[in-house]
Amino acid sequence: MRYRGTVRVELSRDLTPDDLEDVKKALEEVNRSLTKGFKDPGEGGKVVSWGYTERVLHFEIESRKLRIDEAAMRIKNSLETSLGSRRKIGIRNIRLENALIEIDGEIRINVRLPFVRNIEASNGSTTIYLEALDERDLKKPILLRLLRLLNEKETRAKWGGKAEHWQLIKKSRAKLDVLLYTEDPNKVLEETGLVKRFSIGQWLYTPLATYLLNMLKDVFLQEVVLPLGFVEAIFPKMYPLEIGLKTGHLRGTINSMVFASLPKTYNIEEFEELTDYIYVTNEVPPEEVAKYLRHPEYFLCFAQCEPFYWFFGSELLDDSSLPIKWFDRSGPSFRWESGGIYGLERVIEFHRVEIVWLGKPDQVIEIRNDLLKAYERFMDEVLELEWRTAWVTPWYYEQSGTTEKVEEFDINRPGTIDFELWLPYKGPREEHKAWLEVGNISIHGTKFTEPFRIKHNRGETLWTGCSGFGSQRWLIAFLAQKGFDPEKWPEITREYLNRNPPPEPIVTVTYPKTRAGREELGKLIKFLKR
Ligand code: ATP
Ligand code: ZN
Ligand code: MG
Repeated sequence: MRYRGTVRVELSRDLTPDDLEDVKKALEEVNRSLTKGFKDPGEGGKVVSWGYTERVLHFEIESRKLRIDEAAMRIKNSLETSLGSRRKIGIRNIRLENALIEIDGEIRINVRLPFVRNIEASNGSTTIYLEALDERDLKKPILLRLLRLLNEKETRAKWGGKAEHWQLIKKSRAKLDVLLYTEDPNKVLEETGLVKRFSIGQWLYTPLATYLLNMLKDVFLQEVVLPLGFVEAIFPKMYPLEIGLKTGHLRGTINSMVFASLPKTYNIEEFEELTDYIYVTNEVPPEEVAKYLRHPEYFLCFAQCEPFYWFFGSELLDDSSLPIKWFDRSGPSFRWESGGIYGLERVIEFHRVEIVWLGKPDQVIEIRNDLLKAYERFMDEVLELEWRTAWVTPWYYEQSGTTEKVEEFDINRPGTIDFELWLPYKGPREEHKAWLEVGNISIHGTKFTEPFRIKHNRGETLWTGCSGFGSQRWLIAFLAQKGFDPEKWPEITREYLNRNPPPEPIVTVTYPKTRAGREELGKLIKFLKR
């Protein structure tokens, strides 16, 4: 990123030749102020040339990392100190003119944004020309957000469309020496009628399928979540847009969110035209229904931890209440996954245990570390699975300029660790696509405590963390490695089966659909009820 522009400084009186000599001296101070805070002064700003006409000093400036609005303000402050104190010259006004921002990569940006005059993108770079800005504009948060947006767009362009960098942290030893099971459990679950597709990416889980989902979830709660002292809460599952504004999801993932609208009126009579039409035609044209609805003011549960940050929003917390450790398992999350939808692995409606915590940075890191250890034990010893963990840096956590050095990462900084399990049916261990992300664990730093204004009573920094356990994915991965015969399952799940007898499956005249499916179901029941 490079900035250029002219800062015009309007003075309180005409300058004498003596004054101008002093301006030359002041220039050194100005330049020093423009590199303040940068280890490499080349990253800051500098005055390339300057001039004086009719009570106005003008400076041509350039900068790499110092935002141009900040550069203009620094020039003003620096001159105010030097000329003001030495020569009693006041500053009436400053104005930033002909400012432009050059970005590596061809990015797209809305020309209708405030302060944007024009945009040119060609030959791998983009130039954004800004309107002239006076001092009031320079101090507006909207300008700051525009410049941040441009910075993010540049970072994202450098990532070349990748959503995240992936680096292996640890992997389990190979456990499935002889592959006992290589089938796709998604298919088995559907063919045996344990699940039935309801709509795109949505399934009905019959009692037997629910039993299996709950088995893994219960074991997880008992082995990982409860021993670490997390306590259960129930979070809402439909969020006002405002929440997504604060979490940033509306900026980053709007394409995969599901929205909800309320009716325009509660008065049933006002729906009469529509309901009569539905009555007679026995059809519900969505575009007609839309006329009776308000614009979408909500989105459905996306990350599941959002209400936690909302709850503590604008609160003052003291040491005695920290850290806070909760979890929610009360309902589904919704994601529009478009072409990626597959089986139970990637669905529109899924279930998740969401673990959340809040505390001082040390506390948040310690909790993450305890949780990570417990997860490893859970995968390794409790469920005896083949697993691996990876450090994933979503592009938005990366500071611009450091994207090339991704091989170094500090696990105690904000970031995400993914848990992946091998799906033998998808291919050998060596293949990336044969692994499924079943969950993750994140430290957010102040990503949420800042926008939600979650504060400590003595002003200490507060961080948050969260971890999601996706029930459908854990079940698929478990079955993909262990199969459906409990003889080959780990002890803890066999015990679960003994303690909690599984429910009967559903069999009707035409369900499950195929003969093979029915035979498979018979086998499965023999296993489970042994
Ligand atoms: P992926 O990269 O596979 O899309 P993600 O990074 O979008 O996953 P997160 O946003 O981190 O996933 O969500 C946390 C957890 O929620 C995932 O680890 C997974 O267990 C579950 N999950 C996310 N999306 C889905 C989905 N479409 N279907 C089923 N489970 C999901
Ligand atoms: Zn979360
Ligand atoms: Mg996803």
